[in-house]
Amino acid sequence: MKLDFDDREKAFRREVRDFLKVSLPNDIYRKMMRAAHAEKADIVRWQRILNKKGWAVPHWPQQWGGTGWTPVQRYIFAEEITQWPAPEPLSFNTTMVGPVISTFGSEEQRKRFLPSIANLDIWFCQGFSEPGAGSDLASLSTWAERRGDHYIINGQKIWTSTAHHADWIFLLVRTSRSAKKQQGISFILVDLRTPGVDIRPILTIDGQHHTNEVFFTDVRVPVANLVGEENRGWEYAKFLLGNERAGIARVGLSKARLREAKALAVRQLTRSGSLWDDPEFRREFVRLEVELKSIEITAMRLLTANVEGKPDPMSSILKIKGAETQQRAAELMFKAAGPHTIPAKWEKCSEPIVSVETLNDWAEGKAPTYFFSRAASIYGGSNEIQRNILAKVVLEL
Ligand SMILES: Cc1cc2nc3c(=O)[nH]c(=O)nc-3n(C[C@H](O)[C@H](O)[C@H](O)COP(=O)(O)OP(=O)(O)OC[C@H]3O[C@@H](n4cnc5c(N)ncnc54)[C@H](O)[C@@H]3O)c2cc1C
Repeated sequence: MKLDFDDREKAFRREVRDFLKVSLPNDIYRKMMRAAHAEKADIVRWQRILNKKGWAVPHWPQQWGGTGWTPVQRYIFAEEITQWPAPEPLSFNTTMVGPVISTFGSEEQRKRFLPSIANLDIWFCQGFSEPGAGSDLASLSTWAERRGDHYIINGQKIWTSTAHHADWIFLLVRTSRSAKKQQGISFILVDLRTPGVDIRPILTIDGQHHTNEVFFTDVRVPVANLVGEENRGWEYAKFLLGNERAGIARVGLSKARLREAKALAVRQLTRSGSLWDDPEFRREFVRLEVELKSIEITAMRLLTANVEGKPDPMSSILKIKGAETQQRAAELMFKAAGPHTIPAKWEKCSEPIVSVETLNDWAEGKAPTYFFSRAASIYGGSNEIQRNILAKVVLEL
């Protein structure tokens, strides 16, 4: 069982840090520090820098840009990126649709899409969830009817993150009603500029525009955009969801939040000193540090257990504990920023995006980060669903 990093892995961590220090543009770094949030142009610019270095898609086959790193190196890389903090390579492209196309797509699809996906010339979003199909995803009803060499798609997706930035969407659609529900689903790529696609924003509690509804009305999509075989999309979706587990707990993100909570607590003056001197605050801080260490050790056990690609209950433990720790660290940061996070000005733009200005620059982003962190226990399989998996696999209930 692996409990610590060896000398080569420590040297690799230094190499990643040195690269980040030199290559992450300062303006992007400042935005990430202030609001933990980069804009579309920043994410694209940074991913292209990573791609030039050969680090945008570490876990892909080397032929298509993979680095050949060990799972532990990939873990270190993901952790360093999130705790720096730098924007993560766009997950929809790099950990979701890219590996599906490289594993199940045709040679033509690989050549057409993989280089553009890695370089973020094409931005993909994920069209899985529907109003009646979230946790029970196999109940999805968006319908794709084959007519000659096209599919005609009708239906609705919901909670589609970044659809308003995206060029393409990878969709799960129903292509057969006769089969068992998991067996009648296909995986298809759709250009979002196709007539009949309508994207409408959903604003979240943090006042931001992350998610959307996407409607499809008689959208004609070439059969050539089907990935793999018709009615085998469920298999590809399961592969996609279990594909990259190196960073599932996002330990780096929680570490960065804790670091920031401490920095804020030091400057938050109280009658007897600063918030950092408060025993209750410190107790929660240390508890979280200890939990993060235990999550890190669990992640390491998972990475070296040689079960890549297979369902493993440890992934569910990491997803639950990782999400909870991200939320508690965000809460601590929010507490440390205190009343300074209260919006001083709410401005409604012509677009339905709300810009929030806080009283102090250094407190900016802490309230929205806290509010949005609630979503970590919902997306990617809610914590209740992860607990169901544990009950079934570990307790055999
Ligand atoms: C911020 C955000 C971004 C998202 N981005 C995307 C995206 O880009 N693309 C995409 O396709 N989807 C996206 N999603 C959707 C996400 O995958 C779903 O919200 C999630 O799968 C839950 O589905 P649901 O919202 O329909 O809730 P439901 O499935 O209706 O669940 C409601 C509640 O009931 C619980 N529950 C449901 N079934 C069970 C059960 N069997 N046992 C115990 N408890 C249960 C759930 O845990 C939850 O608490 C996003 C969601 C959020 C919040």
